Amino acid sequence: MDTKLDPSRDDLPLMANTSHILVKHYVLDLDVDFESQIIEGTIVLFFESGNRFQKQSGSTKEPCRSESNEACRFRMPEPCHSPVTDTRTFSSKTRSNDFTICGKGEKDTSGKDGNHDNWEQASGISSSKYCCDTGNHGSEDFLLVLDCCDLSVLKVEEVDVAAVPGIEKLTRSPKLTVVSEELRNQIVCELVTLPADRWREQLDYYARCSQAPGCGELLFDTDTWSLQIRKTGAQTATDFPHAIRIRYSTKPQGRSVTWTSDQSGRPCVYTMGSPINNRALFPCQEPPVAMSTWQATVRAAASFVVLMSGENSAKPTQLREGCSSWHYYVTMPMPASTFTIAVGSWTEMKPETCSSNDLAAERSLSPSEADFRYVGICGHMEYPCRFQNPSATTQEIIPHRVFAPVCLKAACQETLLQLVPPCLSAAHRVLGTHPFSRLDILIVPGNFPSLGMASPHIIFLSQSVLTGNSHLCGTRLCHEIAHAWFGLAIGARDWTEEWLSEGFATHLEDVFWAKAQQLDPHEAQEQQELKACLRWCRLQDEVRNSPEEMQVLRPNKEKTGHVSDSGSSVVKHGLNPEKVFMQVHYLKGYFLLRFLAQRLGDDTYFAFLRKFVHTFHGQLILSQDFLQMLLENIPEEKRLELSVENIFRDWLESSGIPQPLQRERQAGAECGLARQVSVEVEKWIRMNRRPRKRKRRETEQVFEKLLPDQLVLLLEHLLEQKTLNPRTLQSLERAYRLTQQDAEVRHRWCELIIKHKYTKAYKDVERFLQEDQAMGIYLYGELMVSEDSRQQQVARRCFELTKEQMDRSSAQVVAEMLF
Ligand SMILES: [Zn+2]
Repeated sequence: MDTKLDPSRDDLPLMANTSHILVKHYVLDLDVDFESQIIEGTIVLFFESGNRFQKQSGSTKEPCRSESNEACRFRMPEPCHSPVTDTRTFSSKTRSNDFTICGKGEKDTSGKDGNHDNWEQASGISSSKYCCDTGNHGSEDFLLVLDCCDLSVLKVEEVDVAAVPGIEKLTRSPKLTVVSEELRNQIVCELVTLPADRWREQLDYYARCSQAPGCGELLFDTDTWSLQIRKTGAQTATDFPHAIRIRYSTKPQGRSVTWTSDQSGRPCVYTMGSPINNRALFPCQEPPVAMSTWQATVRAAASFVVLMSGENSAKPTQLREGCSSWHYYVTMPMPASTFTIAVGSWTEMKPETCSSNDLAAERSLSPSEADFRYVGICGHMEYPCRFQNPSATTQEIIPHRVFAPVCLKAACQETLLQLVPPCLSAAHRVLGTHPFSRLDILIVPGNFPSLGMASPHIIFLSQSVLTGNSHLCGTRLCHEIAHAWFGLAIGARDWTEEWLSEGFATHLEDVFWAKAQQLDPHEAQEQQELKACLRWCRLQDEVRNSPEEMQVLRPNKEKTGHVSDSGSSVVKHGLNPEKVFMQVHYLKGYFLLRFLAQRLGDDTYFAFLRKFVHTFHGQLILSQDFLQMLLENIPEEKRLELSVENIFRDWLESSGIPQPLQRERQAGAECGLARQVSVEVEKWIRMNRRPRKRKRRETEQVFEKLLPDQLVLLLEHLLEQKTLNPRTLQSLERAYRLTQQDAEVRHRWCELIIKHKYTKAYKDVERFLQEDQAMGIYLYGELMVSEDSRQQQVARRCFELTKEQMDRSSAQVVAEMLF
């Protein structure tokens, strides 16, 4: 029945059988415990079954309703599978005690993958009849497969949604006399297909259903990558319970959550994002095609702030003493992989003065006040969409909050806080309607392995963007803001096509940032050209130093987007540790979009892009969806030899440098800012050759002031020099005050220090390795490769100081370099 998966060691399997059954909504109810570093509680999944949704269609009509009703009508109702004996109502007060019934799985850290078989456990905690059933592996029961790893699953049960008072309003029968599986499933089916304007009522029903009593435990089993659930006698997805509750707990070492301390030394936890996304946080359907909504109630000690992908700016509710609860929800269906949570003692950062203008611009628009006059018909499944809400479409700056540890208050006030409104506004001017109604920005702990990460309603930024002037902070913020459109509102249907989010965000970050700085068109073009120079160097370098098969943006070619019969698939190289450090998807994707924008002219290109966003927001796409629509919108005379096939061949399906890009760069792009750098480089080289006796003061006057990106380029040029003497390096540092520049500039400075063994500045390298862990991995390699004992000491000392806190996969890579 299934195409067998054949993942290589580096490939990431997506196991969920989304072709048979789809999660439409998750209700999470969790307690975060920092002592044990465990998150525990329940997740309730609401399903839709049927086969017609497996091919994504542009139709807004829900396929479930008719199909399931038919099933309900033609099948004889049968007596309830098991009488409702479990009357516990899972309130927060009773929950924590419940976990003592099964200590077995909780602290399990044995085994390579930390997983173990739960059939015995299931039978151990439930009635003895399951013991007989466990042998029944070859039964014809339908098997629900969820993506899951590093979790202790304690219990899986069917939820008796028919027990919720008032729920009969959702069904056609006036009174629920005979409660059957069909009836329960019919209720869920009606619930998940409620029209968009009843979203509030729907969320309320979801919440109440999630607390309904259980009506029978389900059999479950776990392996390395999945949780499998079945119900004896339920042979098809349609028969399988459409609302199930899973009690589980995470593990301290689980790969989806990082337990650490923030820059003020207080404990915190946050989700990591890729490569395994949330499957060590909750069991879910990982394939992007499983678009769902969610709501979550999370409890933690009252001193903590809970931030999450939710469209409401949640405020805490005080519970019993010392504990508070946070509730978030989304109404826009998105892949479960985009869900993010962070819990810590963060402080909300506010500007020192707050102008009344800003406040007016940030008036919050909740979907409740949305007037849903159609501004245009959307192609996605139904939800309360901002693109259909006239007041949302004109909102330039969405409401936002900035959180950080209190010790970073000054840094946030100096740079980040002022940048958020102009960057949001710039994005709106380029792309139009913000897909999300609000935004939280969090400065994550120092061990976060990247400069930023975007999730619905929340952006993580590394502390490394807060140093230097506003340039790095602004560009990175623009990059993450761009992901709201490309990566989140429009997602890749196949994760191997990472360029669809990273290429777009990289291209758009320059465009947004130029607008945010209010550059005139010439300045904007100059700065973007300079960026292209830098990225060109980077791409060449990466192509030279990485395996060829990792340089292909669409490695599955015409099989891209294909899944097995059940819906499972593998993400090629998804677990390859090298991939994290590669930027080829960002860079080649960026150059392709730049090439297309140049071919069309900026005005035409961005007008097209807005049209594309309007057509595809809320949906998943493949490369050809974008390229086809683009080519259809190009006038014949500009299209020339461009075709989807040619673009696939030249840009997406080949390794190395794309031919058209090679030709363009060889033609030699004109860039005044880069030329200026070359002149300065010459001065430094001349100075380096000069004998010692020359007067020092000369250096202070000769050199031009350079932009941060120019400094990066200058230092990269100087890195090509065989020797630079300590005197030159010292003047260089003084001339540009390199130690006070942004992390990109300081990174090159550290490379120079290492290359020329400039011992006097080793402290700068040490500082970088500790404070800029998002970028520091490469420098460890540089320190080790020279085989200089003093440099190796620096590397080992810094690793000793940071390894406990360091991101796990980074630590692994560094450890391999060092020992
Ligand atoms: Zn829409």
